[in-house]
Amino acid sequence: MMSSKDDDGPNKPPSPDEAFKKISEFLKSNFDGQNVSFSINDPFGQFNGGGDAEGTGEEHDLKTEPPKDQSIFDFSYLPKDIKAHLDRYVIKQDEAKKALSIAVCDHYNHAKYLRRLSETDPEAASKVEFAKQNVIIIGPTGVGKTYLVKHIAELIGVPFVKADATKFSETGYVGADVDDLVRELVRKADGDVDLAEYGIIYIDEIDKIATSGEMIGRDVSGRGVQTTMLKLMEETEVALRNPQDIQSQMQAMFEMSRGGGGAKDTINTRHILFIVSGAFSGLEKIIEKRVRQGAIGFGADLVDIPDEEQLQKIAGTQDFIEYGFEAEFIGRLPVRVVCEHLEPNDLFEIMKHSEGSLIRQYEREFEAFGIKADFEDGALEKIAELAAKEKTGARGLLTVCERLLRDFKFELPGTAVTDLKIDAELVEEPDSTLADYREKAGQGNKKVAAELAAFRRKFTEAHGVKLNFEPDAVEEIVRLQEEKRISVLNLCDQLFHDFQFGLKLIQKNTGQDTFELNGEAVKDPDTFLSGLVVASYSHGEKKGAEPKPESESDVAAEAESVVASERGEENE
Ligand code: ADP
Repeated sequence: MMSSKDDDGPNKPPSPDEAFKKISEFLKSNFDGQNVSFSINDPFGQFNGGGDAEGTGEEHDLKTEPPKDQSIFDFSYLPKDIKAHLDRYVIKQDEAKKALSIAVCDHYNHAKYLRRLSETDPEAASKVEFAKQNVIIIGPTGVGKTYLVKHIAELIGVPFVKADATKFSETGYVGADVDDLVRELVRKADGDVDLAEYGIIYIDEIDKIATSGEMIGRDVSGRGVQTTMLKLMEETEVALRNPQDIQSQMQAMFEMSRGGGGAKDTINTRHILFIVSGAFSGLEKIIEKRVRQGAIGFGADLVDIPDEEQLQKIAGTQDFIEYGFEAEFIGRLPVRVVCEHLEPNDLFEIMKHSEGSLIRQYEREFEAFGIKADFEDGALEKIAELAAKEKTGARGLLTVCERLLRDFKFELPGTAVTDLKIDAELVEEPDSTLADYREKAGQGNKKVAAELAAFRRKFTEAHGVKLNFEPDAVEEIVRLQEEKRISVLNLCDQLFHDFQFGLKLIQKNTGQDTFELNGEAVKDPDTFLSGLVVASYSHGEKKGAEPKPESESDVAAEAESVVASERGEENE
């Protein structure tokens, strides 16, 4: 599709390098002094030898690449499969999961059907009518709307793009261009236009482009944006290259000069699935009014008017129109689902059972510092309660955990603390719990310091040279000692078992009797010691006290033999 293999021929086009040079020269001669530059940004791989690495040739993908589960053109999921997948990650939102699963199956089954039909009977395929199952999700922030869509896209293997409706402006005005969403799909599909045409575009805050009535977001441009989006939702061809973007236009020109006339330069939006969402605050009032008016008789008992979410569940086209949407726009979004707000209990479930749980993330983060963080249920309950107060859905969990654990994550790494119990008490009294841990860390360090002091004393008494441990050496000893689960004394005995020979040799060469050990000395004692011994010879050389060894390796050899002989003496 996008690959043009007809490079060979009498008018062989320039190579990318030549083209680059020519365009740069052209720019320089025409815009000199205006700081115009050009670089080849090759998002679709067309400059990459022009091969079909992207594999978008229609003839190509079905035959040479065996259909995999991921291939959207072999879609075979059942709504139950999709829901089961979503259940692993998303807590609650059962209705939304069902509705989305069905919409997605219908959408991609239809796409598959049309694709097969167009292979055998293109004309019949072009006549098939189908009402696309675009979806509106109503729901507050942080309850899993995006999360649902993202996991669906991942499961079925189509590119997915999300944006906020508020950042768009009507075509031709300053602001983001709705068409960019479609181009972004191509980017997400690694340049595979064929696949991008079956992607999912998710637009949040759609309620902010409602235009009439007393609602928020009342804005003349809202209607324009609705019209622009409507075009995409129906069917249109979007230019693969942004017309405003000089660079990509030049790429297009370059491609044409290569005789790449067959390359596809637009993306059709017919099979792109649109999912829009918003909190739609105030919509319930419109619905309530309608319900009241429909209630039996004037002044009927209205105690039974359902709550906000119940009302949202019965939102009809008319309600959305009254809210400020164009009838055509809302008509293109036939599937309507409500995501419920999350109670503390749901937030607890998210932490405890969702596969993507934030708690796993925290465990991993502490683990990276060598700390085993253990979240107890009591703590999760308290965190869930605090998070619910934030009124930002599951996002509140992150806010609360960040606030709660930041100081722990800052202070405990690198100390003797290896286990962090996150219990209800920690959540209720984080400061005093941290103080306890600090003390533990201090005690741990004190213990290590005391053992190190004992080792140094022993070493000096036995060998007449002194050792000092630099802070990074202490850190490394603490780490190793925890890893090997042995005492500091035993560890040091192991690590510095033969050190006295080398150190005494240095003492002989230089008179030095105190040695600083750093982290390297602990990590690789032999190499560290050899380095010191070698250096001690050059010290001697400067003073002219020792005969000059011929080369470094001679020095090392000599050092080794001296060490060996000293070791022999000592052992006698
Ligand atoms: P929104 O509804 O505003 O689109 P998101 O889907 O982006 O919210 O949710 C934000 C984050 O909160 C998600 O990435 C996910 O980690 C978590 N989350 C939200 N709702 C749920 C849920 N129902 N189940 C599991 N995790 C959730």
